[in-house]
Order: sequence, then C-alpha cells, then structure tokens
Amino acid sequence: MKKNKSHRFKTTCSYCGVGCGIVVEQDAKGKIRVEGDAEHPVNRGMLCSKGMNLHYVVSDHSDRLLYPEMRWAKNQPRQRVSWDTALDRAAAVFKTIIDKYGPDSVGFYASGQCLTEEYYIVNKLVKGYLGTNNLDTNSRLCMSSAVVGYKMALGEDAVPASYEDIELADCFFIAGANPAWCHPILFRRLEQHKEQHPEIKIIVVDPRRTKTCALADLHLQINPGTDIVLYHAIARYLIEENLIDEAFVQNHTDGFENFKNFVFQTSIEEAAFICDVSVSDIKLAATYIGNANGFISMWAMGLNQSVIGVDKNLALLNLSLITGQIGKPGSGPLSLTGQPNAMGGREVGGMANLLSAHRDLANPVHRQEVANYWGVPSVPAQPGLTATEMFRALREDKLKAVWIICTNPLVSLPEAGIIEEALKKARFVVVQDISNKADTLQYADLILPAAGWLEKEGTMTNSERRISYLNKVVSPPGEALPDVEILCRFAKKMNFSGFDYKRTDEIYEEHARLTKGTNIDISGLNYEALQEKRSIQWPVPALGHEGTPRLFTDHQFYTPNKRAKILSPASVHNQSEPVSPEFPLILTTGRIRDQWHTMTRTGKVNKLKQHLGKPFLEINPLDAALRDINDGDTVEIVSQRGKVRVNAVVTTDIKTGVIFLPMHWGKILNRDFGRTNNLTNTLVDLKSKEPDFKFSAVQVQKY
Ligand code: SF4
Repeated sequence: MKKNKSHRFKTTCSYCGVGCGIVVEQDAKGKIRVEGDAEHPVNRGMLCSKGMNLHYVVSDHSDRLLYPEMRWAKNQPRQRVSWDTALDRAAAVFKTIIDKYGPDSVGFYASGQCLTEEYYIVNKLVKGYLGTNNLDTNSRLCMSSAVVGYKMALGEDAVPASYEDIELADCFFIAGANPAWCHPILFRRLEQHKEQHPEIKIIVVDPRRTKTCALADLHLQINPGTDIVLYHAIARYLIEENLIDEAFVQNHTDGFENFKNFVFQTSIEEAAFICDVSVSDIKLAATYIGNANGFISMWAMGLNQSVIGVDKNLALLNLSLITGQIGKPGSGPLSLTGQPNAMGGREVGGMANLLSAHRDLANPVHRQEVANYWGVPSVPAQPGLTATEMFRALREDKLKAVWIICTNPLVSLPEAGIIEEALKKARFVVVQDISNKADTLQYADLILPAAGWLEKEGTMTNSERRISYLNKVVSPPGEALPDVEILCRFAKKMNFSGFDYKRTDEIYEEHARLTKGTNIDISGLNYEALQEKRSIQWPVPALGHEGTPRLFTDHQFYTPNKRAKILSPASVHNQSEPVSPEFPLILTTGRIRDQWHTMTRTGKVNKLKQHLGKPFLEINPLDAALRDINDGDTVEIVSQRGKVRVNAVVTTDIKTGVIFLPMHWGKILNRDFGRTNNLTNTLVDLKSKEPDFKFSAVQVQKY
C-alpha cells in the first residue's frame, strides 16, 4: 500500500552490547532516517558512528540474499529454489544423517546478533527436538569466560551493576577493553562524568595505549597475559594498607584467608617486574580503588579471550568483593558485552553447555523441567560441541552437517585454515544469513535468506540486563524471512509439533514463563509491557514490576549459602602459546572504531570506511627498527598456522614485543592479505572454552 505520510518508530541499535535506543523515521517515500532516542535511558539521544549510519545498511539491498539457493552437489553453482524445496532438502538431509549417525552428528552455530526469540526457537529445536546439545554461538568468542567467572564467584551469570552506576562512581578500573572505540556511548557517559567531576579516578589496563587511555589518570601498560599478577598485587596492597571492607568480607564472602595467603606469595616488586609496570603505579591504583566511595570494574575481550580468561575474571571480581564494592549504588563489576544480544542468548540457554532460563544442564531435575515444558521426553545431559570443537569435529567427519545462522566463522573463528578445511569436508552446510558477502557462503550447500534489523520484531538484552523490544518497520527484501519463521518452517518439515506459533510474542511469552521462579525471572514481561516501557532490566518477576537496576543489594548472592566466593586460581601465570626465537612477538587482536565484526554490514557503508579503510599492523618503533620496517611498509606476519600481509603502523602506542591486528577483514584481494585469524591459535580456556585471541606467537618481516 502506498504510504502518504512519514512514520516514527522506536527501536534498539543492532550492533553492540551497549544497547542504544534509536528513533527510526520513514518518510512518505519509504526512505529511512535514524537518530538517537533522547528518552532512552542508555544513550539519551547519542549514537556512535556505527549507529548513526544504520539506515544505509537497511536501505541498501545490493548485497542481500534475496531467495533460497541450493547446490545440488559440492562442485555445482548455486541455484535459486523455492522455500519449500530448500527446507524439504534440509529436512531430508538432517533426517538421513541423524538416522544413520545419531543426533550428535549435526550441529548449529548461531550468533550473539540473533534476537532472543530466535535463540529460544533454535535452542528448543536442537536440544528438545533434534536431541543434541550441539548448539553453540559466537558468544563463545565473546563472553563465555565472564559467564563462568560470574557463576563461580556470585553463583549466577548475572551482571550486578547498571550503567546508571557510572554517574555515581568515583573510581573506574577498565581492563582489557577499549570502550572509546568498542562501546562508544558508554564511554561518552564516562567522559561526561569525568568532565563534571575531574576528581574521579580512571585506571586503564592494556598493553596498548588505546583511545580510552586519553581519559585515564593511570594507564598500566602491562605485559600481555600478566593481568592476574597485577590484580593480586593490587589486592595485596589493599590488604596491607587496610583498605578492604572487612565486615563485608567476613559477613558475605568465603575464601578470603586462602586468597590472602595466595596473594602474599608474590611481592609487589616481583609483580611489578612480571607485569612491566612500576611498584608506585600498582600502589597508586590500589590507593585509588581503596579510597573510592564507588568502584566499578569494566572489562571486555582483553580478559575474556584468553586461555586463562576465567581466572582473570575471578581475579578482577575479587577486587570488588574484598572492597565490598558490589550491590550498592556506584559500584560493582560491569562486564562489557561485545554483541547486542549475547546476554539474551544466555537467558534462553542458547549455548552448548547451557539450559533454558539459567537452569543447570548437569541437573537432571532441571533438564526434565525443560523437557516437560517443551513436550519432549528429555534434553540430553552431555554438553554439546562448542564453537571451536564443532568445526574440528566437522574436519574430522565426526560432525556431518552444520547449520550456520547470522555469523561468518571463516573470518571470525581462530585458525581460519582449520575452519576452511572443516567447511570443505562437511557433508552438508546450511548458511542462514542476510548478506551475500558472508565468506562462509562459498561452502554452503543450502543458502537461506534472512530478514535483518527493522525487518522483523523481537527482543534483545544489553550488557546491563536491559531487555529492549525491536520494532518491525519495513518488509524484508525478496523472499527473505525472519529467522524464527525459517526455523519453525524447518521444524514442521521435520514433523515436530511444538513450533506452530502465529505471532512472535507467543514465542517470547513461552520463554518468559519458563523463567518463573529463577534468578532471571521475567515472567512479568510480555510484548505489551515492553512496547510501553521500551526497555527494562531483569529480573521482572511480576506484571507491573519496575525492573531491577542493581543486583545483590541485600548482599545475598546466588550461591547455595548466599555468600560470594573469593577464589584463587590454580596458577597466576599465562598458559598461552609460548614465544620462541622463530616466533618472538605476541600478536593481540581487536576491533576498530567504525567496523563491526566481519564487516558484512559496516563494510558497505562508505562513511564508515573513511576512518580506517584497510587492515594494518601496529608495531613498536624498536621492533620495527630491528626488522628494518618503516611506517607504511607492507609487512608479512607469520605464525605456525598461516600468514597475513598488511601495511605497518609504527607507533609507541603498543609495547615492545607485542603487535596488534584488527580482526575485521576477511576476503580482501586474497585471503593472505588481511585475515587476522590465519594466524591465531585454537587454544581455549578449559573452563569457558573461549579462544585465546589475545596471545599468539608470531614473527613479522618486511614484505
Ligand atoms: Fe549502537 Fe553500540 Fe554505537 Fe550504541 S554504542 S549506537 S549500541 S554500536
């Protein structure tokens, strides 16, 4: 129908875990414009460069997948087919493989970009109806170490603090994160707070001098992998100087004496040497923290993407626990989620080792509760394959088929060479995506076009447990369908009975009811309430409930005895791939300001390419001089697994012995040119299975 007037809708940005509110205006000709939602509690009208340019991504269909396609054989070209033909084939192949090899011979790999309803449906489909826990997501690459850390220390995957605590705190410890580029609106709030209160203290811990450091009172430029040594040295000084909250420790925690003995095994001088920072800076950081009225720690992939990522998380959480800086205004751990809905995915149990509504997969009573709710005999007990395990299993033909939803593993997973071999070897690959540029498409047997942002409705949960409703504003192009519809149509082709939804809100309410009585209870939420409020923080246990900005205000934690655990790691030392004379440099990877993940969306916006349009290597002048490398030279970076060629940026912003590559670029000129994950390794944290992206041994030479 022809529109004769403009419309305004409110929704949420689909990029990062900050979760900014957006007003979308569609004019009479259907043209889309976006602006920050001035009434939204997260961004108060502000948007970062990615958010501001979202309308270009929506309006430009030139790169979109428009109809289902199929390869009748691996070496055949893609051919357009109908949805019925595509899903009949998917169902026939999955049935055949499962009948022959069992349910664990298939796997689903989804995304922290998926909406909660999509996560819920794929989780129910895979764990309840297909009968395998082989459902993992790229959240494994993002927050899984933080999840395990929270569960071990606080008894639940539950972020205690809120963004509103930022304006109430007077000391910030930002570790392994560059919010100036990766969580810009949150950083803007921190900047404003510092502008109004110059006396507040900001400590940044990072081997790189990032843009975030410009705001820091203290930058601790540590050696990669020495984070726990640093946090323990800070803890030791806090204890020595009586800057801890003894009453809180005594009344609400377990494990302090063990921890104290542990941290006193290393002197502050030894720690300073290991970390390559000064003793006085360690003491200064501890003094800032110990004298704070409100202390907030923020962290992201620099801690999580580590072979000892969980222990790093625990060591950082300990700083909040021994100072009693949790569960009160202006305090608490506040992990910064990378993806917009990694937390929503965890709420529905959408990972290989999780169960719906934060229930415990290892608990047979919990499994049966979920099975009964879904109307299936059981949910499998054995955790499924995680992201890296899934592709290794494909390569070894233990997994026969994979269904990839809204993610581009050929660029984003570590050791890209293995992922490429795995996809070549896989018997059947389904790629469900919006973009015709996803690198993984070249190995797809079946391609399913999905609807994107503004083309479907649903919900997401941001880093502070805030659930937002996302509006459908426009129709998807061509024959693209919302992901929930694709998955439900497939389920029906498999003759599964539990997928007959008429509307998306029925899926949401089914998920919400399943949370009743749990620590993440949102049984008081439905679309009507969300559309009225726009966003609300869980738990929301009853209709009309105002949401919960801050957890643990009563200091009752979610552990069996209600006390938080101060845990000491088995070892403080890094377990990453060692450097060697052949590979003497440490490669760390990360994001740049204006690109998102593997650039399938941001890469098509010219304005966003103007910031940093090509991949690059950051190298310290001393390391560059040793290799006769000048700024702008083409260099080749080599690891045991592969190589990458980019231009060098010679800068003192990075420590000697460390180099940095952005992770975004994949298929550019040729695969050796900029695909960073040619170099990274598949070491993972044993507890979280999160890969060690921040530490690979490499060599660099002039090309
Ligand atoms: Fe979107 Fe994140 Fe930028 Fe906010 S900070 S506009 S959520 S990308």
